[in-house]
Amino acid sequence: MDHQDFNLRKYNTSNIYSFFSDHQDVTKQDLAAGLNLTLPTVSKNIDYLTSLGLIQISGSRGQTGGRRATTYSLCSEARLALGLDITRHHVSCVAVGLNGRIISFRRNWLVFDYSDDYVKAVADLLEQFVNENHIDRDRILGVGIGIPALVKSDHRTVFYSKILSFGEDTYEKFSRHLPYDISLFNDAKASCFAEKWVNKDLRNAFYIMLSNNIGGSMFINGQVYFGNDTRAAEIGHVTLVPNGRQCYCGQCGCVDPYLAATTLSADDLAGYFENLKTTTDEKVLNAWSRYLDYIASTINYVRTLLDCDVILGGYVGAYLEPYMDEIRRRTLAISTFDTDADFIKLCSYQHEAIAAGAALYYISQFKETI
Ligand SMILES: [Zn+2]
Repeated sequence: MDHQDFNLRKYNTSNIYSFFSDHQDVTKQDLAAGLNLTLPTVSKNIDYLTSLGLIQISGSRGQTGGRRATTYSLCSEARLALGLDITRHHVSCVAVGLNGRIISFRRNWLVFDYSDDYVKAVADLLEQFVNENHIDRDRILGVGIGIPALVKSDHRTVFYSKILSFGEDTYEKFSRHLPYDISLFNDAKASCFAEKWVNKDLRNAFYIMLSNNIGGSMFINGQVYFGNDTRAAEIGHVTLVPNGRQCYCGQCGCVDPYLAATTLSADDLAGYFENLKTTTDEKVLNAWSRYLDYIASTINYVRTLLDCDVILGGYVGAYLEPYMDEIRRRTLAISTFDTDADFIKLCSYQHEAIAAGAALYYISQFKETI
C-alpha cells in the first residue's frame, strides 16, 4: 500500500469513527450514504473498528419479514478520560467516555494548599473515584486538570497563578502522585472546550466564565485564539469601573470583582438564586440589577470589539436562564450596532464543564489517532 492509499484509508476510518460519535444504531447503508463511500469500504472499516473493540453490534433495523440490517454503535467506554477541577475548597472528579458524555462525577471538599500532602490527597480522591466507579485503569487515556491559573500551550507550564498559588513545578508535583498521563488547563479554556464539544459548529465566539473568578476563552474561525503569550481573552481584567473595586490582580476596577460569583454569595449560589425569585428586599434587588448592568457592559465590550457570539457560562451561568431576556435587553440598550441580542447565549454545558473539558482533551486526542 503506498502512502496515498494509507492516508485515504485512515481518512475513511477516521470519518466513519466520527460518524459513530455523532449517531447511534448505524447501518452500513447509513454510513455509505452519509459519507459517500462504497459498501465494501464501509464493511472493511467496520471489521477493523470492531476488531479494536471501538464499535459493536447494537441490534438490527428493517421491516418485519424483510431482510433486517445490522446496526452498530460506538463502544463509548472502550477508553475513557478523567478530569479534575481544582478550586479553593473543592476538587471535582469526572470520567468521560468516548462519546464525550460524563459517565460519573463526584465533588469533594478539600481545601487547597500547594503542598505534596495536598496533591497526594487529590491523588487519593481520584483513586477512590476510580475504584467506586469500577473504572478499568488500562482504559484511562489520561487526566486533564483544570486550575484557576494561566497555563502555556504545552499543558505543563503554569505562568500566572494569583488566585491559588500553583508553583512552577505544578506539573511535576501532580505527575509524582498521579499514575496517569496528565495535562494542565486554565479553567475557562477547559470549560469553553466542553462548550465547543457540544456546539461543534461554533465559529466565532467568546465564552465568559462567571465563576468565583472571571475567565474567558475565544474561538476565531472555529479555533481557540491564545494570543502571543497565551493570555488572550482574559476578560476578567478589563477595566469596567475606573478606580473601582480592588481586583486580586493588583489593579482596581477590573471586571472580576464586579462579576465574580462570590460578589453575589460567598458560598451558597443556589440559595442566592432561590431567594432572588421571591425576595422584595430592595438592597438585594438593587445589587442584582447592578450586576446585570455589569454583565451587559462586559458583553457589549466583547461584542463591539469582536462582533461574535457571546456565551455565558460558569457557576453563575447555570442560574441565568430566567434572566437572559433582561440581559439581552440591557445589552441592546447600550449597543451601538445591534438591533437584536440573539448573539448572547447561555452555555450548553452547565455542570462540571471545567473537569469535563479537561478530560475531553484526551478524548479528542484519541479520536485523532484513529
Ligand atoms: Zn484584575
